[in-house]
Amino acid sequence: MDVIHDSTYYLYDGNTVFQVQSTLFKVHRSVLTRDGSTFQDMFSLGVDGGREFKGSGKEEVPVDGSCDQHPIHLQGDTVDEFRALLWSFYALPSDIFYATRSENIDTTKFMNLARVTHKYNFTSTEKWALKILTLYLTFVSQLPIPSELDGPSFEPLSAEILEDLTKVAVLCTSEDQPLFKKTMAGWELLLGHGVYAETAIRVAELLGLRHLRASAYYSIMLKGRQAWDLKPNLSREQRITLLSGHHALFELCQSLLKSPPQFHTCHGNTAVQCRRSWASCWGNLITGGISDAIPAANSLYPLDLLGRLQLLEGLFVKISEYAATTLHGLSRACCIEGMKAIRELQEKLRLELPDCFQDVA
Ligand SMILES: [Zn+2]
Repeated sequence: MDVIHDSTYYLYDGNTVFQVQSTLFKVHRSVLTRDGSTFQDMFSLGVDGGREFKGSGKEEVPVDGSCDQHPIHLQGDTVDEFRALLWSFYALPSDIFYATRSENIDTTKFMNLARVTHKYNFTSTEKWALKILTLYLTFVSQLPIPSELDGPSFEPLSAEILEDLTKVAVLCTSEDQPLFKKTMAGWELLLGHGVYAETAIRVAELLGLRHLRASAYYSIMLKGRQAWDLKPNLSREQRITLLSGHHALFELCQSLLKSPPQFHTCHGNTAVQCRRSWASCWGNLITGGISDAIPAANSLYPLDLLGRLQLLEGLFVKISEYAATTLHGLSRACCIEGMKAIRELQEKLRLELPDCFQDVA
């Protein structure tokens, strides 16, 4: 195999040669032993100090890393990953400043950096790379997404980038960490626009992310069965999961219809009107009947329970901020309590959603 010198990181005054795939890098070993990295152990165990030969007498053997003919082979890394690592150590402050401004962030470079620093335990550099990726996600999630995405992709957050970010988040972080949360929020944002559902299902099933999986099934379900039938990438099992999720949500709606959230604090003259208005509002909202209080609910898919609850929350917020004491027959004081109850219910449903889309044996 022909090997080549890396165009940037084969440094004339470097003292250690690494081979990654078929590229040779010549760098300073003192740089690679920083930040608690496992290279420190590698050098202290394997290769000895600055000497170029080990052993004694006639049969001296060149130390690994001492020259092009005896490089230290790094297995399982890519050239781009190793380059990203060296960039993080050798870049000028102005380069770093430029590269970490939200609008300039090269996600591929920082994902490479996150993977390689995770592998070799460059603790603070890994954290830094994850922070930059989180910054990127914060930045792009604020960009306007075209209301109708005809094409397959929202370029700053394509399905491929989201998939790779999700893999990095799973590899390097846990569910309570900012990168993980922002990545999931990115999926939710785009699933809400009706895109990426099939990729999301594949990624979620691959990585065992049950909430993402449920959100993806939910977003396909809302498009109705005709739309599922047009999706060529859905397997038979996945179509059955959709049907069973549809059924589970129907049952959930039925049980919610019978047990509206209780929160009234009203009494006296307005109490009868307030309770009656709430009963009618809830009934219309859940059954998908014509809702005067929340007209936007009329255009939602009948089983879009989360969408309906979100609109209801919006109504309660509006009434609670409204100067008058009642609106649509609901008292302001009850709406403030109702808002809390609906938020709790939304949270509960989000947690239960994965159970609706279980695999069917
Ligand atoms: Zn009330």
